[in-house]
Amino acid sequence: MRRLHLLSILIVLFPVLVYPQSHQSLVEKETLKKHIQVLASDSLEGRGTGSPGLIKAQNYLIAEFARLGLKPGNQSSYLESFTLEKRYMGETYLSIGDKRWSNFEEVIFMPSGYFQQEEVEKEVVFGGFGSDEELEQIDLKDRFVVVFIDNLMAHTKIGMELNKRGAYGMIAVKSSNDVQQMSTMKSIFRDHYLKDHYGLRDIPNPRDTAFRLKDVVKSVRAVITPRSEMKKLMGYSVAKLQKIAESGELTSVPNSKVTVKIELDTDEMESANVTAFIPGNSEKKIVVTAHYDHLGKNDEGIFNGADDNATGVAGMLQLAESLSRIKDLPYGIEFVAMSAEEPGLLGSKYHVNQPAFNPDDVLININLDMIGRQDEEHQDSDYLYVLGTDQSDPLKELINQLDEVNDEIVIDYRHDQSKGFGGFYSRSDNYSFHQRGILAIFFHTGTHEDYHHQTDTWQKIDYSALEKRVKFIEEVILQLEGNQSIL
Ligand SMILES: [Zn+2]
Repeated sequence: MRRLHLLSILIVLFPVLVYPQSHQSLVEKETLKKHIQVLASDSLEGRGTGSPGLIKAQNYLIAEFARLGLKPGNQSSYLESFTLEKRYMGETYLSIGDKRWSNFEEVIFMPSGYFQQEEVEKEVVFGGFGSDEELEQIDLKDRFVVVFIDNLMAHTKIGMELNKRGAYGMIAVKSSNDVQQMSTMKSIFRDHYLKDHYGLRDIPNPRDTAFRLKDVVKSVRAVITPRSEMKKLMGYSVAKLQKIAESGELTSVPNSKVTVKIELDTDEMESANVTAFIPGNSEKKIVVTAHYDHLGKNDEGIFNGADDNATGVAGMLQLAESLSRIKDLPYGIEFVAMSAEEPGLLGSKYHVNQPAFNPDDVLININLDMIGRQDEEHQDSDYLYVLGTDQSDPLKELINQLDEVNDEIVIDYRHDQSKGFGGFYSRSDNYSFHQRGILAIFFHTGTHEDYHHQTDTWQKIDYSALEKRVKFIEEVILQLEGNQSIL
């Protein structure tokens, strides 16, 4: 009944023929659940980047696409392989003679915009409190400059000034005694810099680099040093140096010399997207995506990632199953299960930037990420966020109309904007397509208390709601196939 109602309305709204008129959806909750139970099972170990569990997930997806009769999406292969580079800071220290100050133990080294492997000896000059008048007095060129600052966390400001003046680096010391700030900073920066950072080996993109500050802040290398080490570094105690700074006689402090060693370690690893397609009657295609990787495991357990994003992948498999029954689709439909989404949308960045990719063939990207739960904004689970329809009025109109005739799901537009970095829209693979100038929309049901925790398990998924949501997305794809004027 409802379908007839829907079609009659759409035929009135859209003068073009709605295609196809007799499709019976195969999307149903038991099959969705079966896929999620496999993908989010402990044996897949949280599908971490480069892990054996991710390969298991890959094999499952290949087997499913083949079973459904879909063609491989990458010539004769279902896999689209790429190389990831894992970058991290190795042995890094300052030294004078036998005395060594190791990174994150005695000092905190902040590479800022200049993170590269090096081992050099540099002169150290005294810059007092780092005011313009003080910096005018001394020759900073290619030297380390010792400065007192009130707030060590605010070292970037003076670091930028020193950069402008051509200094090599800064050794920052707190003006007043405060052991607490030093230890807080140690743990924050240790976590940040020693964590694995991933990039794509073959697709240079400054955003992928380990240390993003590079893009926005041009600052010198900073070494945050405890007050107790000043005597060994400069030959004067902190108290003495402060007195000299107050008297303005900065040049009375003789220069010293330190060796700085920075080690950048890089490991390579292979990963792959899994891609399959249903051919259409033209070269143009609709690309449906969902990332199948997640956070892997740690000592405490496995990040099963049921909602994030076994739900999207299960939805994609069901869409593939249901839509592959239709003969003579006007447009092809490509399904890409993306890898390496969690470390920075890297699988999708690779996909849209590889030489074989032609953006002109892609009419739209429809991305599914986390569609099986309910967030705090909603009393009921009968909703679905759509993001990105602000890019196309006809598309927005279509989704509005489908929303009006569908009484199972209410489309929630509150996050529906594709502008600005940091919103939901930029946090999943649709963003990579968007950055290539392709119309891309994102279906999502928001975050919840189990998001990125080991408690995101298959038992917590609302399978009835998931079925309704995937059926809605199928309806969108069908109407796009049938309404060439929209794309
Ligand atoms: Zn996700």
